[in-house]
Amino acid sequence: MNDDQLLRYSRHILLDELGIEGQSRLLASRALVIGAGGLGCAALPFLASAGIGSIVVVDHDTVDLTNLQRQILHGTASIGRPKVESARESLLRINPEIAIRTVGERAGDAELDALVRDADVVLDCCDNFATRHAVNRACVAHRVPLVSGAALRFDGQISVFDTRQPGHPCYACLFPPSEQAPEAACATMGVLAPLVGMVGTVQATEALKLLTGVGQTLAGRLLMVDALRMEWTSMRLARAPHCEVCAGR
Ligand SMILES: [Zn+2]
Repeated sequence: MNDDQLLRYSRHILLDELGIEGQSRLLASRALVIGAGGLGCAALPFLASAGIGSIVVVDHDTVDLTNLQRQILHGTASIGRPKVESARESLLRINPEIAIRTVGERAGDAELDALVRDADVVLDCCDNFATRHAVNRACVAHRVPLVSGAALRFDGQISVFDTRQPGHPCYACLFPPSEQAPEAACATMGVLAPLVGMVGTVQATEALKLLTGVGQTLAGRLLMVDALRMEWTSMRLARAPHCEVCAGR
């Protein structure tokens, strides 16, 4: 680390649990973020500012006026532009020293597989079950930890699916792909603006912990927040013995 980096990351380096070693790990790490919407816009600034050396952002969408209430990497001037470009510009303003690669189209299974294989941690910040399951399959196959987040109306959920750890569940253990859950979207149900910030920043926190080995992650637990009552609760998650994605792995 050079002198500027020692200053930029000094408040991390001051943390005994992280120190120079932990910060060096972050600088050498690669994070894959699926989605540059509300959750991605909350997680990404902290991944960038914290000095994760390489970040890949995947999103096929363009910025819409209805996004701006909560997707804070995008500004009014970015309406109509690809979200990944707008996000990239904002992130490089925060930290020009990191590498940001963008994928501005819907990533198919083969591309997701390649992107996940090259990542040290994956943040699922998307808004649909098909993508969530595709990302989970690739994470299980390549044994890459997955930080999953969801936010709708006043309710949020966060978990870490780390199948490198024996007995730990994957996303499909919790939401079996064959049991089609009804798709619920912010576009029809609404979402409170800072809720996506709460969930996305917890995702960023878990990603930094996974990359540095600090603390205990949410692996094997589902953290839920009810913003109307401001109650945080968590429940234990077990691996489903006959999970169609991770059983036998
Ligand atoms: Zn599973």
